[in-house]
Amino acid sequence: MIVGIVGGGQLARMLALAGYPLDFEFLILDPVPDASAAPLGAHLCGNYNDRALLADLAKRADVVTYEFENVPQESIKYLAEHTAVHPSHHTLAIARDRMREKTMFRELGIPTAPFAEVNSRSDLENAVAEIGLPAVLKTRTLGYDGKGQTVLRSPADLDTAWKQLGSMPLILEGYIPFDREISVIAVRGLHGETKFYPISENTHRDGVLLLSTSRPDDPMQQQAQNYAKRLLDSLNYVGVLALELFQVGETLLANEMAPRVHNSGHWTIEGAETSQFENHLRAILGLPLGATTPVGYVAMVNFIGTIPKPEQVLALPGAHLHDYGKEARPGRKLGHATLRAQNEKMLAEGINQLLTLAQPEIKI
Ligand code: ATP
Ligand code: MG
Ligand code: MG
Repeated sequence: MIVGIVGGGQLARMLALAGYPLDFEFLILDPVPDASAAPLGAHLCGNYNDRALLADLAKRADVVTYEFENVPQESIKYLAEHTAVHPSHHTLAIARDRMREKTMFRELGIPTAPFAEVNSRSDLENAVAEIGLPAVLKTRTLGYDGKGQTVLRSPADLDTAWKQLGSMPLILEGYIPFDREISVIAVRGLHGETKFYPISENTHRDGVLLLSTSRPDDPMQQQAQNYAKRLLDSLNYVGVLALELFQVGETLLANEMAPRVHNSGHWTIEGAETSQFENHLRAILGLPLGATTPVGYVAMVNFIGTIPKPEQVLALPGAHLHDYGKEARPGRKLGHATLRAQNEKMLAEGINQLLTLAQPEIKI
């Protein structure tokens, strides 16, 4: 089987690693010559809208998937006209646009923060009057890792925010003082079967995911899973989908979805019977889905901007290192470590050690 992946970052790399034991081959489309996934497949090095490369990809691949939602919509549509593409370009059109995405959540009865579309300075005034402050102003498309968004705390912040983001279509959301952030990683096969991983509890730092933890018996599992199931079925989805939610008391509010494997599911490589990466491949190739059963208490720590020496991570019991082979830059995800433990206490100890290695100044 030959799998095409649009985007050659760490997600594509981990997809390819998951496919190797199954003897799948990979075609990686990415403009960067030393893309993280490039050594793991045939590298089609060029722009995402290069028609000749897209045609080549479509011709050679049995199925094409993508590793990020900011891939040009036209390219995915073109690929879909020539080969199987999962998730579909209809799904991508919704998931890449926060306004369409939140509207869909609302239509499916999945609660969200209050939100309003903002296309002009007066829209912004009206939206703030309706939603109140604090609020979060976000670009509708292209945002990731907290980029393209700003928190409005007082009326004086509107001018600065408008100068910063006003050239793009925007959405204003009520600021949610959440108790915690969680995500559910779900997978739906070609024939409609679904499976769900135990939910992840996520901690961000400067808008970037730092820590995910997962335990086998989280009380919010069923609710999160029900919302994800509604999305999967209504989109006739194929592949892995991540749904990010805020928890306030006993209520879950959907923040965003990602039509792909997700950073908060990296722990599934060592922490679940079948990883999110393998299950994504199984789904898009029409193979039976693998069990999502966890192996115990699991955590994942991201290495952002700096990565410890391998021996420092490997010395920790139950720790597994993933180095994406990327050049270090501030704010860049360079790798992660998964930690497995038999109980919550051992997990907490290991997490502290990993966080100290990840960024010595952090205390959580
Ligand atoms: P990702 O890297 O997960 O794709 P993103 O750039 O698409 O992130 P969001 O997930 O919408 O952006 O926001 C990043 C983080 O900012 C959230 O995980 C959350 O911590 C915080 N945040 C976003 N929206 C809100 C909100 N309405 N209320 C409170 N906090 C928020
Ligand atoms: Mg996002
Ligand atoms: Mg997010």
